[in-house]
Amino acid sequence: ASFFQEVEQAPPDPILGVTEAFKKDSSPDKLNLGVGAYRTENLEPLVLDVVKKAEERIMSQNNNKEYLAVEGFAPFREVTARLLLGDDSKALKEKRVVTLQSLSGTGSLRIGAAFLAKFRAGTTVYISNPTWGNHFNIFGDAGLETAKYRYFDAKTIGLDFDGMVEDLSAAPAGSVVILHGCAHNPTGVDPTKEQWKKIAQLCKDKGLFPFFDVAYQGFASGSLEEDAWAPRHFADEMGLEIIVSQSYSKNLGLYGERVGALNAVVSSADEVPKVLSQWKRIARATYSNPPTHGARIVTEVVGDDALFSEWKKEMEEMSGRIINVRAALQKALESRMPEKDWTFITRQIGMFSYTGMTKEQVEHMWEKWHVYCTKDGRLSLAGLSLSRADYLADAMVDAIN
Ligand code: PMP
Repeated sequence: ASFFQEVEQAPPDPILGVTEAFKKDSSPDKLNLGVGAYRTENLEPLVLDVVKKAEERIMSQNNNKEYLAVEGFAPFREVTARLLLGDDSKALKEKRVVTLQSLSGTGSLRIGAAFLAKFRAGTTVYISNPTWGNHFNIFGDAGLETAKYRYFDAKTIGLDFDGMVEDLSAAPAGSVVILHGCAHNPTGVDPTKEQWKKIAQLCKDKGLFPFFDVAYQGFASGSLEEDAWAPRHFADEMGLEIIVSQSYSKNLGLYGERVGALNAVVSSADEVPKVLSQWKRIARATYSNPPTHGARIVTEVVGDDALFSEWKKEMEEMSGRIINVRAALQKALESRMPEKDWTFITRQIGMFSYTGMTKEQVEHMWEKWHVYCTKDGRLSLAGLSLSRADYLADAMVDAIN
């Protein structure tokens, strides 16, 4: 008998499965609105100019291919923590920040999850309903209990703030709460600053531990500062300890380079080397050390004034294009189906539009219109162009009616 005979087929990934179906479709009309990856108006992948410039500099440095330290590239670790927490960060000034370079957002979350499983065994991780589906894989595979808190209100297509507060208030002290730092995936609905303040106070009062997932810094509002407001408020204004995962997949378009970081703001500088030593211990056994190239790119861009300001412009262009596409789609839908309120399309922020479309409606768009999005009705508008907005509106209206 085969050693593998008991192995069953794993369920397909709900997001990556969309790309597979898209690739198999030979229609010239096809649209991939599944994966959250930025496309140009011609629907092509984009390598940012600042990334090309950084790569030229890196090539001229004649770097070797030696292993990085387990904790990553030292200059990268410094710039990434500063980008997240800000130049005026109290925590950084007081040397209360732990930073480990890791394999983009996912890898950073996974190291964080393994750390929680090891040092906070028995803790429950509270995850928003809905969320990016991989959160359940990551925390569940690390051996942690997960639970959902209310987040999205289908009636208002907005935040169910009261439900969120009620669920988090009922969580046992010591529980971990996963918070999307900005541009909530899949809903595109974020708390306001006033609501963030209340969430921070709730974490403080109830002894809940905030774990931020920051995968879209700069992509929500177009401003790096604005998009990092929540974790900065928790750490500096509220004096809370936090963990934050960071990703450069979207904001620098470094998807395949796998560059990101896991950070913690701790209460006292004495704890920094201890926590870092444990993160390194986990990383060592997981992948040993992180890749070099992406870390060098981030360091060149974030650490250089000229490239940094160019990057901000390119990020504004990317988020601006998505905002324009949202407006075009909303207008196209309003003209086809004026009886429905479509304003949520321009109210939601980030890459996604969470439409409330059912699985059957989505399947109709896949089959009849060659429009591919996830079965929960999430459209990645980063994959739509102005010239295809009418086509998408036709598909959506046909599927809904
Ligand atoms: N968290 C969220 C909420 C995301 O949407 C993503 C990207 N889809 C990630 C983390 C991580 O992506 P990556 O591993 O490419 O950084």
